[in-house]
Formats: sequence, C-alpha cells, structure tokens
Amino acid sequence: MSSSSSSPSPSPSPSPSSSPSPSPSKVKISKKEEKKNWLAKGNTIPKCINDGCGKCVTIRDWYPLPSFKTECSRCSTARKKNKTIEGVTIHKKKYCENMDGMLGFMCPMDRTRYHEFPSDIYHMDHLDGNHENNTLPNLMTLCSICHTRKGKECGDFNSFKASSRIHKV
Ligand SMILES: [Zn+2]
Ligand SMILES: [Zn+2]
Repeated sequence: MSSSSSSPSPSPSPSPSSSPSPSPSKVKISKKEEKKNWLAKGNTIPKCINDGCGKCVTIRDWYPLPSFKTECSRCSTARKKNKTIEGVTIHKKKYCENMDGMLGFMCPMDRTRYHEFPSDIYHMDHLDGNHENNTLPNLMTLCSICHTRKGKECGDFNSFKASSRIHKV
C-alpha cells in the first residue's frame, strides 16, 4: 500500500536571478503604458509654470523616471518663436537670473549680450531640486554656465534651499 502523497508545490517559484532589485518587468512598455501606470499610482503631471496657462507640462521622458519640462508645448513653442499667447505670461527669461551673483558667484556672461544667445542656453532651474515643484518662487532662469556651476558647487540640489538665496542683501 503506497500512500500517494502529492506534493503541494505546483508553483513554478520564480527564483530571482542575479539582480536583487525587483524589476517589475523586463518587457519594454510603451510611453503610453508608462504614463498610464504612473498616473495610476496617484501621480499627477505638473502644470505649466506660466501664469494663465493651466495646461500640463511636456514630458521629456517617461523611462526610467518621468522627466518633466517646465512649460507646456504650446508655451515653449510660442516662446521660441517670440510669440505671445493671450492671457499667458511666459515666465522663462531670456537672460540669466544670476546676473547679480545671487547664487554666490557672478554670472560670467556679458549682461549686455544675453539677448544675442538662443534661448536654448537658458535653463529653468528648480531651486529645491524638486522638478515637480513648479511654483514661481522655486524657479529661476539660469544660463547653462551658471546652471552647471550651481549643480557642481551645491552638489546636493536639495540642500540648496530658497532661503539661501537671500544670504546677502
Ligand atoms: Zn503653458
Ligand atoms: Zn549665468
């Protein structure tokens, strides 16, 4: 008499291979899916920084993490073409807001020549390092030189609090 003991382990048991981090799926999913999943987690797309706009910002990239621009596509297109949108105030400057050295070092650019350069060299910087914090006091237009230097000197962007902007009056 042999008692047939069926082993109760039919699960294939997915042994985690080499990577210890739980990668949800190795399958490449579309941007649309990426967006849907991200929104399903309760996230929201930040709003365009420009007063009177109210549209959602452009998403630069969804993967591996969402990377947001500060403006919607309509505003950035208008700004690059030097156009205005009725009822909307474009916040991004065509100069470096560090021209007076508010970051603790002077902007090396000639302030009389800011307008000569394409707007691409001016970046929107989030003072607190949080790219979803699109409130105007948290945003500053920096030329790419100042932006890079700020990033290097401050290292941790999060340590650069708005309060440290007013260290000297
Ligand atoms: Zn906009
Ligand atoms: Zn600058």
